[in-house]
Amino acid sequence: MASNTSAALYRDAAANVEAAALAVGMDEKIRRILSQPMNELIVNFPVQRDDGSYDMLQGYRIQHNNVLGPYKGGLRFHPSVDIDEVRALATWMTFKCALMRLPFGGAKGGVSIDPRSFSEPELERVVRRFTHSLGENIGPEYDIAAPDMGTNAQTMGWMMDTYLNSRGPGERQNTRRIVTGKPVELGGSLGREEATGRGAAYALRHLYGEFDRVLDGESVAIQGFGNVGSHAARALVELGMTVKAIADVSGIVYADTGLDVEKLLNWVAQSGGVADYPNAEPITNDELFALDVDVLIPAALHAQITAENVESIRAPIIVEAANGPITADAAAVLDHGGVHVIPDILANAGGVVVSYYEWVQNKTSNRWTAHDVDTRLRDQIWEACDRVSAQRSARGCSRRAAAYIEASELLQTVYSLRGIFP
Ligand code: GLU
Repeated sequence: MASNTSAALYRDAAANVEAAALAVGMDEKIRRILSQPMNELIVNFPVQRDDGSYDMLQGYRIQHNNVLGPYKGGLRFHPSVDIDEVRALATWMTFKCALMRLPFGGAKGGVSIDPRSFSEPELERVVRRFTHSLGENIGPEYDIAAPDMGTNAQTMGWMMDTYLNSRGPGERQNTRRIVTGKPVELGGSLGREEATGRGAAYALRHLYGEFDRVLDGESVAIQGFGNVGSHAARALVELGMTVKAIADVSGIVYADTGLDVEKLLNWVAQSGGVADYPNAEPITNDELFALDVDVLIPAALHAQITAENVESIRAPIIVEAANGPITADAAAVLDHGGVHVIPDILANAGGVVVSYYEWVQNKTSNRWTAHDVDTRLRDQIWEACDRVSAQRSARGCSRRAAAYIEASELLQTVYSLRGIFP
């Protein structure tokens, strides 16, 4: 489908930026700086497979903007990865960090592989060789990675170890913040694993008042049961919601009376996916999106709600826990129909917010409690929700437009105060 290619994704991202620049009356030169990435790295590197053969892989690191602080963003391993997808994701990171008032810029990395078809030792070699290829183009005060789709805490552990081994002995302990989302034992933050899912739940809970509804007892369907979807499901159950449907790559399960999320997680741990889970019926992806639920949460891949299926959606509230799950044409239809959309740069910002907490803890050789992390995360998400709501009522625009405008105002101010070199 032509409208769902990664080129279209990047065009959508650029269009959001452009619209916000217009709305805030952004100076032409600042607008032009933000309209493209500062640096684009493409690295080709060999990786030995377990059978002794070699693959040549291509990896990307797109550094979109660093006017607010070091480049920051995840590393994605997925077959869909190409340079335009990573450009779009890097652009979103700049605006996500600005919206959340983090002292970070935006970046993203990716390698076009299906990690499920690589053994653990092969994946380790991919990560180490990719990190080595990035060389001096990353750094703890320059460009900091984190997990994204297809990568996890272990990936960050290998990345950190590779980077540290390229430093002199005296520089190793104080550079662990080269990555965030690493295992807690390696200096990761408590609460980082859950942060994106919990952040989405906090945003939904905070904005629920604006929807004139009561969250307790409302129903939700979630597409994606990985790191983001599973922790969002848990947090929403804590808040009293009924999770009626959950999808992952293996299938989609539905139970009108509600799924037991913990039991489903145990099932997934044993069987590898939600498919064939007893106490639920299988449904199709089309049926999932057309469910008569109160909240729909796409927490998987981009471009899932498109012009082709948007008319079937019945949920009055959508939380974009994934990055870019709604295409621009579908978003216009939803806005027109009065559907409340909590946009990705707000809804899934919990991950990078706690990445920032991890970076600060590493920098100050400190350790925050899980309670500290969670309370700060909640407050930071709620405060951003309030700023987005204020923009929205002042300007009469969508929440997505309001979020981009809120981020753009800060970027515009910082560029204006600094001036443009030389
Ligand atoms: N990959 C996550 C995102 O898209 C987290 C990024 C980070 O923690 O740097 O927001």
